[in-house]
Amino acid sequence: MDKKSGGPSSLMHTPLGRSMAVFLLLTGMAVTAVSVWSVWKSWQLMLTDRENDARNLSVSLARQAEDAFLQVDITLTDAVRQLRLNGADYAATPAFARQIKEQHGKLPQLHGLFIYDSRGNWIATSGNYIPAKASNADRKYFIWHRTHTGTGVHISQVIRSRSTGDLVIPVSMRLNDQAGNFAGVALATVKVDYFRQFYGHYSLGEKDVLGLILADTSVMYVRPLPDSFINRSLSASPLFRTALRQSDSGSATWRSALDGIERIYGYARLDQYPLIVTAGYDRERVKAEWLEANLTVAVLNLIQLVVIMVMGMFMLRQVGASVRNQLELTQVRDELTTINHTLQSLALLDGLTGLANRRQFDALLEQGLQRSHKTGEPLSLIMIDIDFFKRYNDTYGHVAGDICLKKVGGLLKGTTHRSADLVARYGGEEFAIILPFTSEPDARKVAERAVRTIAESGIVHEATELTPEVVTISAGYCTLISTGQAGEAQRLRERADKALYEAKRSGRNRAHGET
Ligand code: GH3
Ligand code: MG
Ligand code: MG
Repeated sequence: MDKKSGGPSSLMHTPLGRSMAVFLLLTGMAVTAVSVWSVWKSWQLMLTDRENDARNLSVSLARQAEDAFLQVDITLTDAVRQLRLNGADYAATPAFARQIKEQHGKLPQLHGLFIYDSRGNWIATSGNYIPAKASNADRKYFIWHRTHTGTGVHISQVIRSRSTGDLVIPVSMRLNDQAGNFAGVALATVKVDYFRQFYGHYSLGEKDVLGLILADTSVMYVRPLPDSFINRSLSASPLFRTALRQSDSGSATWRSALDGIERIYGYARLDQYPLIVTAGYDRERVKAEWLEANLTVAVLNLIQLVVIMVMGMFMLRQVGASVRNQLELTQVRDELTTINHTLQSLALLDGLTGLANRRQFDALLEQGLQRSHKTGEPLSLIMIDIDFFKRYNDTYGHVAGDICLKKVGGLLKGTTHRSADLVARYGGEEFAIILPFTSEPDARKVAERAVRTIAESGIVHEATELTPEVVTISAGYCTLISTGQAGEAQRLRERADKALYEAKRSGRNRAHGET
């Protein structure tokens, strides 16, 4: 058997091996694809979830800011209406001061209410303190109202209060005299701390942000960034460059223009005021959370893939081995069959008696004849048949018959003395003796000795027609000197058979030569 042909690579050359390898490959690819797809899907879901969260949060914070500014707006508008009803001088009266103080107390986000005349001088305040010689004519909102005729509410960049030093968002309105000329500014300031506190209530990640931004792009407050970021411009941010241009609220991912951190942002523009609220989740943290939640699944998928691959390889090897075994078995079987045939042809002995069988007899007879032809020496043949053996079988059974055959065979073997002599079982209850270099008188002696030996051995045979009731044989013998002609062996056998027939005919238990 060729062991080299049995490697796994040889299996690949069989259709079974190839289809198994393809199956293994496809299974591996399918498992990988499903795993990658499910991991990718869960990441996409996580991103969508966070985007929705950010958007919802920014929308609800926008509502909160809207409410906070609306309350301030109503208070301020009410104060301005009072002045319009009672004349400009009313602003300096204790009644008006009391009124705005009262309003101030009602709103937690309100830092203060102020009235300035056309030169920026303080006329009234809801606070207790008016700075000496103070003028707010330099404030941006003041300059804006002086140069803009609109009487609506104006919200401007964060400033530090001159009365308290707090960071405040100015919400202002222009005051006009009877003729419609600029008569000063009514101002309400909203505390930045109010939003700081409110945004502080949300439990968010360290780098997650909540921001209130003025529509002119300047930062009003961003949690948790330091106050130094207040009033920074976000004009370069994707919030203003793209997001708000597409819709008033939404979500998107971008890198912060303030601290450079990439976040998933939600944003919402307020309906009534020029303000925008944003909520941003640190993308790295989102990724870390997702990884933490999916790591086990990913590892399990990987293990599953490895197990499938290992088992597949194992199976492939097993199948390879069994295919090889089958091939080997077939080869062994064929070889055994051949050997068996050879052995059969080589078998020279009779299984029952241990004497030479018919095959050996034929071969040695031919050989003996050739030698006789060469040497000119005679060769004799004795054919022997057990008398009334059918009856023996009928009386004692076949097993006993076989035992009798064995005994007779053994006894016949003992009647020859030369090494060249051959006693063979010719078939059934017939035996043959080849006697090379033996003349007829010597053959006769051997034949008669054989007949005598069997009879004298006294194997009981109650069914024989002869007396005494023992097993006997008849023998026919003949002799020739070979002439080398074909068919000589056949003729010799026929002659010996004929002599045997004569022995039977003339009473059995005797040897007979040619007449
Ligand atoms: P005859 O004296 O004329 O030879 O009588 P016979 O009964 O021996 O003659 P026949 O040839 O008719 O019978 C031979 C019998 O030998 C038939 C068979 O029952 C028996 N026989 C042949 N071979 C075997 C064998 O191997 N074992 C056994 N037990 N019996 C055998
Ligand atoms: Mg016979
Ligand atoms: Mg017989």
